[in-house]
Amino acid sequence: MHKILVVEDEKKIARYLQLELTHEGYAVEIAYDGREALEKHEREKPDLMVLDLMLPGLSGIEVCRRIRQKDGLPIIMLTAKDDVSDKVMGLDMGADDYMTKPFAIEELLARIRVALKRRPAPPDEAQSAHILTSGPLTLDRDSRSVHWNQELIQLTKKEFDLLEHLMAHQNVALSRDDLLSKVWGYEYSGDTNVVDVYIRYLRLKLDDHYHVKLIHTIRGVGYLLKYEEA
Ligand code: CA
Repeated sequence: MHKILVVEDEKKIARYLQLELTHEGYAVEIAYDGREALEKHEREKPDLMVLDLMLPGLSGIEVCRRIRQKDGLPIIMLTAKDDVSDKVMGLDMGADDYMTKPFAIEELLARIRVALKRRPAPPDEAQSAHILTSGPLTLDRDSRSVHWNQELIQLTKKEFDLLEHLMAHQNVALSRDDLLSKVWGYEYSGDTNVVDVYIRYLRLKLDDHYHVKLIHTIRGVGYLLKYEEA
């Protein structure tokens, strides 16, 4: 089910939109001002935002700008009929579409459907991020370097590959077999001791050296990377 965040300070309109959108089968969250909109965008991870530009405090334009700095959430702006400058600014700030008030609900629903279809698939962060971080630990895939704060950590190729895989899947318990096939490839299949050996190397260079808990053993499964101050 798609989740829509409606940002509208006029309670009657917000309520009306909530009813109509719920009726259409969407999950609906309401924010009554710009700050709440940004909070709910973070917390609720909506699939689309219907954003009234005339808001108290933080304006709709500013909300739009800040969200665009973070992600490509489809945004349909609601503007006053004669406010051309708002409309232009909103589109400049990266809104996908706009509707002038008053609008026919059918038209808004149609535009929501279009915007949701156009929505690009979310990038697979594990694949696309060049820099992985966990607490003070930073791994740069391009330069294949690892730093603890500003300090460079010397890793062998396999240590780096293993750490990269663990960092790309933080908070996920990874089995020894999985690590073996992803990091060493199939030719090592079966010999999971090598995983334990390299985990020990990494722990010496990271957990023990910096006195933190980073690589956790998950009994009966394998390992999980999660930064915790010791
Ligand atoms: Ca308003």
